[in-house]
Amino acid sequence: MSEFDLVRPQNTVAVLQKYQFHFQKKYGQNFLIDAHVLEKIISAAGITEDDFVLEIGPGIGTLTQCLCRHAGAVAAVEIDQNLIPILKDTLSEYQNVTVIHGDILKLDVKNLARESGAGKMKVIANLPYYITTPVIMGLLESNAGIERMVVMVQKEVADRMQAQPGTKDYGALSLAVQYYAKPNIVAFVPPNCFMPRPKVGSAVICLDCGQKRAVTVLNEAILFAIIRASFNQRRKTLVNGLYNAPNLSLTKSQICEAMERVGLPLQIRGEELSLDQFAKLSDELSFHNKIGSI
Ligand code: SAM
Repeated sequence: MSEFDLVRPQNTVAVLQKYQFHFQKKYGQNFLIDAHVLEKIISAAGITEDDFVLEIGPGIGTLTQCLCRHAGAVAAVEIDQNLIPILKDTLSEYQNVTVIHGDILKLDVKNLARESGAGKMKVIANLPYYITTPVIMGLLESNAGIERMVVMVQKEVADRMQAQPGTKDYGALSLAVQYYAKPNIVAFVPPNCFMPRPKVGSAVICLDCGQKRAVTVLNEAILFAIIRASFNQRRKTLVNGLYNAPNLSLTKSQICEAMERVGLPLQIRGEELSLDQFAKLSDELSFHNKIGSI
């Protein structure tokens, strides 16, 4: 039997019946039952036996079993207490996995990486959609030595992460993700690949975080404050968006002067600026100390 045969619907049903498991909607439980998608995740992750892998939300352990076969060590964090005995069973033949019963949003990921002794890690997950953005942003900002993340997310969220300036999907999430990583959608996944079926389409996205930041800025906090302010009032010009942001306290003339110095037309909207242009504007405003403490 190939490792990818593990995901056949009848195998999942057998495990669920054996343990009389009931799905909990509040935990975003949509288990993967498609072998091709599993194969794509494993191949995009490029896992070798040198890798330490963190899996978020192992469910009944289908993806986890494949990870165990490829990686040196796997840590799987699952919030649902009812899944812990199931995971003990489905993962019983693997010595290189640690199941952690807990909430990924409360886990000290940096410490986990340190304790593993690997110093770097890959993150793989069919993410529970109700916490996609906080989980991804928390991991990107964690400084935990994450080289690559391969995650299943709602299709619409994957589109936003990869979006370019001037498109309807482009926004604060696109810029934040692209500041830390190179996003690349590797598969679109329809609802029938899951049990139970979600109401929305999904996508697997690979975020390569190994390299340095996409741009260098004097002050990251100021960069992100400017980005948030620009998209809070999407249809307004950049000048008005920044002027109306209470935490920036900028005058119109300070904003206009800074924009002119970096060569931005005064009528431009935030959604038209590239990350590089946001970085230049951020440095202009930081350098002249126009923004107090953020
Ligand atoms: N990996 C399995 C699969 O692909 O079939 C299950 C994926 S399911 C979409 C999401 C999993 O994340 C569920 O097992 C759910 O219980 C778990 N989960 C939900 N919220 C979590 C949290 N805050 N921390 C850790 N696990 C969580």
